[in-house]
Formats: sequence, structure tokens, C-alpha cells
Amino acid sequence: MIRSIVSLSAIATWLLACATAAVGAELVPDPPHECEYCADWGRSREPFRVFGNVWFVGGGLTSVLITSKDGHVLIDGGLTQTAPQIAANIEKLGFHLADVKLIVNSHTHYDHAGGIAALQRASGASVAASPAAKRALEGGGPTPDDPQFAFGPAHNNFPAVARVRAIADGEILRVGDIAITAHFTPGHTPGGTTWTWKSCEGSHCVNVVYADSLNSVSADGFRFSGDATHKSLTAVFEKSMADVAALDCDILLTPHPEGFDLDAKLASRARDPKSNPFIDQNACKVYAEGARQRLEKRLAEERAASRAASN
Ligand SMILES: [Zn+2]
Repeated sequence: MIRSIVSLSAIATWLLACATAAVGAELVPDPPHECEYCADWGRSREPFRVFGNVWFVGGGLTSVLITSKDGHVLIDGGLTQTAPQIAANIEKLGFHLADVKLIVNSHTHYDHAGGIAALQRASGASVAASPAAKRALEGGGPTPDDPQFAFGPAHNNFPAVARVRAIADGEILRVGDIAITAHFTPGHTPGGTTWTWKSCEGSHCVNVVYADSLNSVSADGFRFSGDATHKSLTAVFEKSMADVAALDCDILLTPHPEGFDLDAKLASRARDPKSNPFIDQNACKVYAEGARQRLEKRLAEERAASRAASN
């Protein structure tokens, strides 16, 4: 695994953010995470409205703000070093971090959970998660049953999140008139969760799906098809994919913006500002099917590796 040295600019940004925090802004970020893709994932982006009360407040990674007059919900906290960016994007849209009442997460890897601790400290929001995700969030890193656990703590770990409320599969969480439903979609991580809710522009209401990562990515040596140390994840993962494909889905959002072709959609909206290219009733099915094909390929590779090992 190629490891890169954390860039000087990331450290400079962090020091600046700490200094800003000391003179009045409320978010004190944790130290920047070092990783191969962190510079790209840490890039900033103008925040924008996706639809109705749904706003993109991330950068190279997705964070979504759902707003109501009685408080907001934030999904995903990016990297430790992007927490100040998310906070700034929320303010830029005219909202306040202090009005974020609930923070939830797609999955407990450092690129989506790293900023949650700082965002929670700064906002006072509660954090809710599936029981498996709660263990990882409160432990500050993936649990041993995570396919990426063997990457090790220096690569994997993130600031631990305090006081995570465990929720049930299918539970509806409410802030003001926002009601988001948790759908447990394990596979990429044991506690992975897909979130759904309704958003309206006047009488035009749509079903929004924040689908978790469904990629069969692991540390070296992990087998999705199971081995002596753990059971096969195939059935569990395929069910998560089928569940996402079956959701009422007008708008798909995903933890990595590439998962819903964000740049192409923004370009298309710039060409025709009256259109909303985020609305696509097929998007969840296409997303799940792509993941299913990649898992199938991965399982074939695992079978080939076993045959090679036994020859
Ligand atoms: Zn991940």
C-alpha cells in the first residue's frame, strides 16, 4: 500500500483552522489524516442545493445537510481535515453549524467518519448509528470484522466519537419536520447504513437515497467468500445491494461523489439551469447493479486464488 507524507498545505490548513477556532469560530479540527487520496478527497467545493432542503456541503467527499426551521441533519463528516470545510460550507449557505441537531454516517471509515468528532463537539449534535457502526465510531476505528481492518490502525483509525445512540434497522429519526429512515446495508463495513427521506419543493416531493458504499474493497488477504476466521459475506452483501436497488429512489447520493456522477450532473445543470439532473429513478438500481458485478468479479478472483493455492 503506497503511503504518502501528509502535505504541508494540509498541516498549514489545520494550524490555520486551529488558530481561527481559538479566536471565536467554534470548530476545533483534529489533526489531518495522511493517505494516498487525502489531498484529492480534501479538495473544497462550492456548496449547493441538490433539491428542496437537501444541500451538498462536502468537497472531494460527500457530506449532505438536510435543513428544517427546527434544526438540521448532517450525513457524513469527511476526513478530519475537511470538518472545517463542511462547517464553512454550512455557514456559506446561510445555515449554522449550531443548528445541526443530528449527525449520522454512511460507514465507519476515516474518509467519512474522520470529521464527525469535531463536528459533534462544535455543534453539540447527537450522533446515531447502527449497533455495529456505534462500536466502530466509539472505538475510533474499524472493528476486526471489517474487510479493511488489516490495513492497520495508522491507516484506519479516526477520532473516536462520544455518546453514539444505537438505532434499529428501519428506525426513523426526526429533527423538526425531517424524518430519515436507516436501512442497514452491511458488506463494505459491518455497520454500513443507507439513509432515505422525502424532500419537497412545494408540492413536488421526491424520495432521496443516501446509499452507502457497496464496494467489495478489502485489505490484502481478506476473503468476502469467507475463510477459517470468518463466515462468507456474500449473502449479506448481495442482500444489501438488492435492498438498495429496491428502494423508492428519485435522487441517489453516495459517500464518494463519483458514485452519483456529481461532476457530470453539475455540468448538465449549468447547461440547463431549469433541469434537475439529480432526479433519476434508475440511479439506485444502476448503482447496486454495478456493485453486484464488481462483487461477482471479486468472488471469481477469490475462487481462482484458492484453486491456485491448492494446485
Ligand atoms: Zn469505505
